[in-house]
Amino acid sequence: MRTLKSYVCGRWHEAASGFAPLVNPSTEEILAQASSDGIDFGAVLDHARETGGPELRSLTFAQRGALLKDMSKVLRDHRDELLDLSRQNNGTTKPDGSFDVDGASGTLAYYAALSKSLGDRRALVEGEGVQLARTEGFWAQHVLVPRRGVAVHVNAFNFPAWGFAEKAACALLAGMPVITKPATATALTTERCIELIVAAGILPEGALQLIVGGTGDLLDRLGPHDVLAFTGSADTARKLRHRPHLQKANTRVNVEADSLNAAVLAPDVEADEASPAFGLFLQDVVREITQKAGQKCTAVRRLLVPADRIGAVQDALVARLGAVVTGDPAAEGVTMGPLATAQQLKDAVEGAAELQRTATLVHGTGRRIDGRGAAAGKGFFFGPTLLRAEDPRHAGAVHEREVFGPVATLLPYDASAVTAAEVVAQGGGILVTSVYSNDAGWVGEFLAGGGGAAGRVYLGSDASAGEAPGSGAALPQALHGGPGRAGGGEELGGLVGVKLYLQRVAVQGSKTLVNEVTGAGA
Ligand code: NAP
Repeated sequence: MRTLKSYVCGRWHEAASGFAPLVNPSTEEILAQASSDGIDFGAVLDHARETGGPELRSLTFAQRGALLKDMSKVLRDHRDELLDLSRQNNGTTKPDGSFDVDGASGTLAYYAALSKSLGDRRALVEGEGVQLARTEGFWAQHVLVPRRGVAVHVNAFNFPAWGFAEKAACALLAGMPVITKPATATALTTERCIELIVAAGILPEGALQLIVGGTGDLLDRLGPHDVLAFTGSADTARKLRHRPHLQKANTRVNVEADSLNAAVLAPDVEADEASPAFGLFLQDVVREITQKAGQKCTAVRRLLVPADRIGAVQDALVARLGAVVTGDPAAEGVTMGPLATAQQLKDAVEGAAELQRTATLVHGTGRRIDGRGAAAGKGFFFGPTLLRAEDPRHAGAVHEREVFGPVATLLPYDASAVTAAEVVAQGGGILVTSVYSNDAGWVGEFLAGGGGAAGRVYLGSDASAGEAPGSGAALPQALHGGPGRAGGGEELGGLVGVKLYLQRVAVQGSKTLVNEVTGAGA
């Protein structure tokens, strides 16, 4: 049995007990085991704070960016191997695996490029300086400098490569050492990413450590200069937020959690497949339901369609979902893999049953199915599932329960932008709303009425049809995060994500000295 190792205090740690299995979700074969038993988390934090932190802070933004560039290259050079691990442990098809693996190398490369614009400096100047007295003898300038602590990253099971990389890119660029903890059930790909980066000798010692398995007492040892960035379910987020120690230490916490993302078809777009905007709506919605078997925080869960065309839209979606082949990604012709774990399958089946209290199944079974290329009764397969609830304002669990699988619900609405905004907002705060329209007036009304219910609004139109990557793509240039239930966090978005790991300081003194110290006005 292969045992995954943690990388802590400059060496690989193999536990002797407390193991959890990592399973191939297509075959249910056990691939490996993981545990963090025996790790001294106090020593791990000391190593980051005393070795990695000072090394990183001694570098400029541009020098740290060069490290990210090398990390990106090493992941790109081992792309095929990482895609294979993702298939084995996450059950991803090649395109689905690449969404994660190429997303990881791409995000690192993006932040490497961004670092060049930040230059050979160790403090970021923010805004203009301001005179505080009668003369320039007393002046203030805001700057951003690295926090002195450690960044602890707790990630979800669905993005073992991107989840690690998108957080690490921002923290390392800011100058904070990272302790990364993937979800145990799918840690295979993350472990290999770290192994490759460590073997290549890219980072200063202590800048990056890996925990496979539980966090032990790590979180109860975090202090006021540290950052905890969590991605996962809203339930776990709630437990972590309320940990007395984190509150007492006032550790900075960022949360990326559940999201009941919505796609809205506006009334100006006819259900005509010759319309580019409608074609984009269909393409995006089907991709969002089926990509990574719907196990994406940005996947669309609620589909708002004007009531007068709900039947035509339903028929078009059912036809496309009917062409999806669910099975073992290793088998010929499979276009959608299984759910990642037995627990995820159980949750999806229970969730689909709960949705059926207020919605009717119009495609799929809501239960486990056998997958192509997999033994009968084996594998965590769950086919594309479409439901329809007739009353969008009283759709119960449709607005409350994130079913983390290939599941979405049609909601007919009265074509008004005000209604659409109200219904979208019932999701309690989401990551992304996609709106399909060529009518700026209608979209403007929707935005003013409810745009703030999501962290990102993706506009699909005739003009964007050939370019838009799909509403589920969290690109590093644009904000990722959403209010309320989505966690209230902010990641990526260029410098927005880096600022999580920087401390804003108002430097006051004579203008000459302040500018010399901070580099302002240079
Ligand atoms: P999860 O069960 O909440 O677990 C997430 C992470 O938290 C895992 O690494 C898990 O470790 C760890 N964890 C759980 N309990 C913990 C505790 N008491 N102390 C410290 N760590 C703890 O979520 P998941 O099932 O992996 O992920 C699916 C969820 O993530 C979905 O709801 C999805 O919407 C959300 N998600 C959100 C985003 C976003 O950016 N907003 C992105 C991806 C996923 P173990 O595996 O070792 O238990």
